[in-house]
Amino acid sequence: MTIKDNLNKIQSSLPPHVTLVAVSKTWPVPDLMEAYNAGQRIFGENKIQEMAAKYEEMPKDIQWHMIGHVQTNKVKYMASFVTLVHGVDSLKLLAEIDKQAKKHNRVIDCLLQMHIAEEDTKFGMDENELNDLLASAEFKQLQNIRVTGLMGMATFTDDEVQIRREFTHLKDNFDRLSKQPSTANCQLSTLSMGMSGDYKIAMDCGSTMVRIGSSIFGKR
Ligand SMILES: *Cc1c(COP(=O)(O)O)cnc(C)c1O
Repeated sequence: MTIKDNLNKIQSSLPPHVTLVAVSKTWPVPDLMEAYNAGQRIFGENKIQEMAAKYEEMPKDIQWHMIGHVQTNKVKYMASFVTLVHGVDSLKLLAEIDKQAKKHNRVIDCLLQMHIAEEDTKFGMDENELNDLLASAEFKQLQNIRVTGLMGMATFTDDEVQIRREFTHLKDNFDRLSKQPSTANCQLSTLSMGMSGDYKIAMDCGSTMVRIGSSIFGKR
């Protein structure tokens, strides 16, 4: 199976309301170009400098998604071009993205990451932190970011019941927050959940964006 075959197979299994992010971290540009030539335009990376280097080399109609943990001091390296930042888990980080976006006269879309897994190695906010962030006066003043949804990662386990429970918890929060009126900088439409091993379960639980790496590019 080639990268193109893998992509076509996955694309054809996704319903129209689910967006595929091809997670290309660690893979070299020729592999990404193979996916590009097969029609893929959304790529996900987890290291800012690696993403910036690939952005420089590759066609400019690609949408670059930052899916990894973001250090505040590195936001400046992606602020001019990043399309969506998935892993925002603090007001401090959101404020820095806002500040850097302003320098480039743009608005950067962000997803707030919720901690849904039982492992405490995975980043993200709990329900209270999420509520507090969205209710804060400081958040309401940010004009160069827009929160467009939530993101989460389930526990790495074979236990399907557990994975389903964790994704459902994220979906419940997404639905709850989506009922609140939209504001200029908070318009929830995207629920980013699901990777190679669990995206089918994630879609069952309401995912609208899946982040798939190894099933497209191979084992890292
Ligand atoms: C690496 C990564 C993925 C993709 O994982 P695969 O198992 O290779 O599909 C998805 N989301 C995040 C946040 C990742 O770091």
